[in-house]
Amino acid sequence: MTAARLKTTGRYRVPAPAQATEIAINNLKAVSRVLDRDQGCAVPVRPQGAATSSTDCNRSASGTVALMSGLDRITDINSQSLTVTAQAGVRLYALSEALAEHGLELIGNHEMTGRTLGGAIAAPCLGPSIGNRHGSLASSVRSVQMITGGGKSLTIGAQQKNLLGAVRSSYGMLGIITEATLNVQPQTTFNATHRKLTIEKFCAIADTLSMSDVGFRFALLPHRDRVYLDLRRYLSDPGQSGQTYRMPWKIKDWGESTVLPHVCLSLNRLLPIQSVRYRVIDSVSQATQGIVNSRFVRTGNNGTMQGRTASSIKRVLYSTWCFPATDFSFVIAAYRDFCKANYERTGYRCDIPATGYRICRDASSVLSPSFDEPMIALQTMSTQLDGWENHVIDLADFAEHWAGVPIFSQTRSLRAEYARQVYANRLSHFCKLRRQMDPENRLLTPFMAQYFQ
Ligand SMILES: Cc1cc2nc3c(=O)[nH]c(=O)nc-3n(C[C@H](O)[C@H](O)[C@H](O)COP(=O)(O)OP(=O)(O)OC[C@H]3O[C@@H](n4cnc5c(N)ncnc54)[C@H](O)[C@@H]3O)c2cc1C
Repeated sequence: MTAARLKTTGRYRVPAPAQATEIAINNLKAVSRVLDRDQGCAVPVRPQGAATSSTDCNRSASGTVALMSGLDRITDINSQSLTVTAQAGVRLYALSEALAEHGLELIGNHEMTGRTLGGAIAAPCLGPSIGNRHGSLASSVRSVQMITGGGKSLTIGAQQKNLLGAVRSSYGMLGIITEATLNVQPQTTFNATHRKLTIEKFCAIADTLSMSDVGFRFALLPHRDRVYLDLRRYLSDPGQSGQTYRMPWKIKDWGESTVLPHVCLSLNRLLPIQSVRYRVIDSVSQATQGIVNSRFVRTGNNGTMQGRTASSIKRVLYSTWCFPATDFSFVIAAYRDFCKANYERTGYRCDIPATGYRICRDASSVLSPSFDEPMIALQTMSTQLDGWENHVIDLADFAEHWAGVPIFSQTRSLRAEYARQVYANRLSHFCKLRRQMDPENRLLTPFMAQYFQ
């Protein structure tokens, strides 16, 4: 008797796949209820912000997923103390808009502003650092309010430096953050200039750039031997504001995060011959990078870069690895060779340009990917699902070879053993704290247990 036939006899039932219950969080009591063992909420519990992570850190196949984006009140903006206090579900673009009305901005160049404040604190929120002061958004967090996995309500401030360092980039493993107070700064204008280079030429200047305090971001087309480089410098000291226009950044974002993925998706359907398809896709990418970057975007501030809202990136697949800035000229040449060789061997290649940016050394959080030294974050992106999973396994092999540092929320196919090797004592310290703050493992899913048990 076939399996299909057995199913219909009624003697054998295939169980329905397990599913987590989603609970929309709109107030603080709801968070307490989710984590109160006497309320009988199914475990494990996973907090979820805007769900823009590329790994299963924000979801679960069973238990409860706490949807945090309803907790979206900005409680206080203080122009005297240069701080903002907001609930964890507030989107970064909403925070930036509210701050701009007071002439203020978040510290650091953070794109993907559709993410929530809680997600941006609990998972590394990185962007091109100008200078050497600010790595992730979490480094500007002064205090947080949270409910621990054990159900305790806590306020953690600067006095508890070690605990605050663990809560930053804690991936929702210590508890659910409900509110945070961040340092902000007066809006400050930076100057953006653009270059188009071959990969060889980019390699030649990568070390100098990586070691300087210029902020940079690049788009890399390995199959066209092209790098589009965007260099950012403050016009003057932070606090000095020049004229900046929001529209060019909006157009840039629209080109990169909406038009390009949609064009790729359509061309993948319309052009069945791979070589023709990729030729057209690469030409569209080059045109987008060339026109949008060089003609329009000349100055900006952290508020004008409100790019990549969560809704427009749902169909983009990505995996991010960070590499030591000191070796980056070698890594980027090796990455180009890896992409070409892998395409020849497997027939798979990414259709969207990879992007990268320098992040400065940032030891403010225990699990910071740039804890020891400045790093370059390299984000591989595609809309091509077929073959993607094998591609990210090969990419992980490549990254391990080049001393890549993974990010638990953004790095696909990460081997637990490699993560333990890279994060070493910091990870052991974090896991010890996790066991204290969540003694019954209420926040621990099988995916997270690989790394954090
Ligand atoms: C196309 C694309 C481009 C991207 N580019 C960048 C980039 O340039 N730089 C960058 O840094 N990131 C980038 N990201 C990644 C992503 O935006 C970040 O990882 C983001 O910080 C996650 O925020 P979120 O609100 O989506 O959180 P989620 O993805 O929902 O959650 C992230 C983690 O935080 C935990 N969490 C969420 N809310 C809370 C809370 N209230 N309390 C405790 N834990 C919580 C979750 O459990 C999970 O472990 C990109 C993503 C995409 C799709």
